[in-house]
Amino acid sequence: PGPQLPHDPEKKTVVVLGSGWGATSFLNTLDTTEYNVVVISPRNFFLFTPLLPSVAVGTLSPRSILQPTRYVTRHKTRAVKVIEAEAQSIDPVNKTVSFIDNSAIQGKVSSTTIPYDYLVYAVGAEVQTFGIPGVKENACFMKELHDAEKMQRRFLDCLESAAFPGQSEEEIERLLHMVVVGGGPTGVELSGELHDFLEEDLKSWYPELAGKIKITLVEALPSVLPMFSKRLIDYTMSTFKESKIDILTQTMVKEVKEQSVTLAMPDKSIVEMPCGMVVWAAGNKGLKITQDLMAKLPTAQANRRGISIDEYMQMNGTDGTIFAIGDCTASSHAPTAQVAQQQGSYLARAFAQRVKRDRLQDQLQELERSAAMTLHDDERKKVVEEAESVKRQLAKFKIRPFSYSHQGTLAYIGSDKAIADLPFLNGSFASGGLLTYYFWRSAYISTLFSLRNRTLVATDWLRTKVFGRDVSREW
Ligand code: FAD
Ligand code: NAD
Repeated sequence: PGPQLPHDPEKKTVVVLGSGWGATSFLNTLDTTEYNVVVISPRNFFLFTPLLPSVAVGTLSPRSILQPTRYVTRHKTRAVKVIEAEAQSIDPVNKTVSFIDNSAIQGKVSSTTIPYDYLVYAVGAEVQTFGIPGVKENACFMKELHDAEKMQRRFLDCLESAAFPGQSEEEIERLLHMVVVGGGPTGVELSGELHDFLEEDLKSWYPELAGKIKITLVEALPSVLPMFSKRLIDYTMSTFKESKIDILTQTMVKEVKEQSVTLAMPDKSIVEMPCGMVVWAAGNKGLKITQDLMAKLPTAQANRRGISIDEYMQMNGTDGTIFAIGDCTASSHAPTAQVAQQQGSYLARAFAQRVKRDRLQDQLQELERSAAMTLHDDERKKVVEEAESVKRQLAKFKIRPFSYSHQGTLAYIGSDKAIADLPFLNGSFASGGLLTYYFWRSAYISTLFSLRNRTLVATDWLRTKVFGRDVSREW
């Protein structure tokens, strides 16, 4: 027996893969009245990624930036089925998805396959390691909630080990050296947050060690934050200099060992830099399931960056049955939350249009069938006229293409400073500093999907201001 689905055979079934920015925005906007909707994701919650680095240093509690997917779906007009599972494969010809329960506890059934009429593919991406040795084994990532929690444990473990009696100066220095790889916004924001933790809390909790903590940001390109204007890049570099965060540009990490990183320096020399923790924020790549799906459509899907889609979010080569949004796609837009969110809500609005179009198409098919079966000329003429009228309506029917509206790029750089490149009167407006930081805070608080999350994040900020960050290390 297949899983119990909210199935109405009169309605088309939309299967949504993922519960991140794209999928959640799609679900938030979708009118479920006209569809059977099934959501499949290994994570039964939405994660507000922009504030993940704040969780890693304890400024925010993990749960403040999560929203259970069922919070979204329970308010829908028709029941939406939420399944905590990982999609394993997609059959674009027979229009089915196979998925498994890969959680710690499983029932007697832990894998199954379901059919779809439309598939909304929003599985995101995974961390890119470029096959560099030791990254998976020795580095922390900054992508999922468990990554932030792991980094926090490791960071505090380094501090406690450095505080262990009898440690040599050299070993203390190593343990307290934190290396962040990748000068994109993730690496920069995390370095800024680590610096705040050090300045605002560790100086009082570990007075004998705080002065020895060192943060190094390693970037292969000539500058950090290439998506920002030159002025803001310079501002970030000078803020980091004041904050004593070392930036090594044109430096490539070649290997991550348990107690060091191997660097190819700008002069091509190879240097082994001892450290206690490495955070890998060197970008993303497509998931295996995405590569497998693309391999099934080799002529239409040859872009190595991800799924090729048209301006309606339709995956090329699938006749409008698979829609892909967010980080799994290769479009002209950057892989950001802002893009995924807009694509998700656009697609939901397009689905409201699509249902009307599908209905007309069904009506037309029915009329053509009955025209073929009608024996009386008069009656057939009437049916043919009716079919012509439906055809005219269909010809006029246009689903509008997606159009991205860039709201600006923001990043927190530590020391109560943020940077913002905002679109302004056909140009752009660059700002950095304390005011931008308050703007950053208000922008993110208003972007959080629910009042509950806004309240939790605001109270966490207040708690951190009053009581400081917690330094207890979970096991
Ligand atoms: P995701 O949000 O990653 O969601 C993917 C979903 O698919 C997840 O729920 C996952 O569990 C699920 N999934 C994975 N595999 C499967 C499978 N096999 N079957 C079913 N489901 C699956 N962008 C900005 O615009 N502004 C920011 O400030 C910003 N800050 C960021 C900070 C950090 C630390 C990070 C890591 C990213 C940040 N981003 C930011 C980028 C942003 O998070 C991504 O662009 C966005 O998450 C992409 O949305 P998505 O829906 O494509 O993927
Ligand atoms: P990214 O791809 O933007 O940056 C990764 C950086 O790592 C690159 O600059 C790359 O040159 C560097 N790198 C790669 N391999 C390296 C190596 N071996 N040694 C040294 N450096 C190496 O990745 P990200 O920062 O995780 O961002 C991913 C996406 O999420 C981007 O689209 C970004 O815009 C978005 N994002 C946005 C924000 C924001 O708007 N505040 C925050 C985080 C992420």
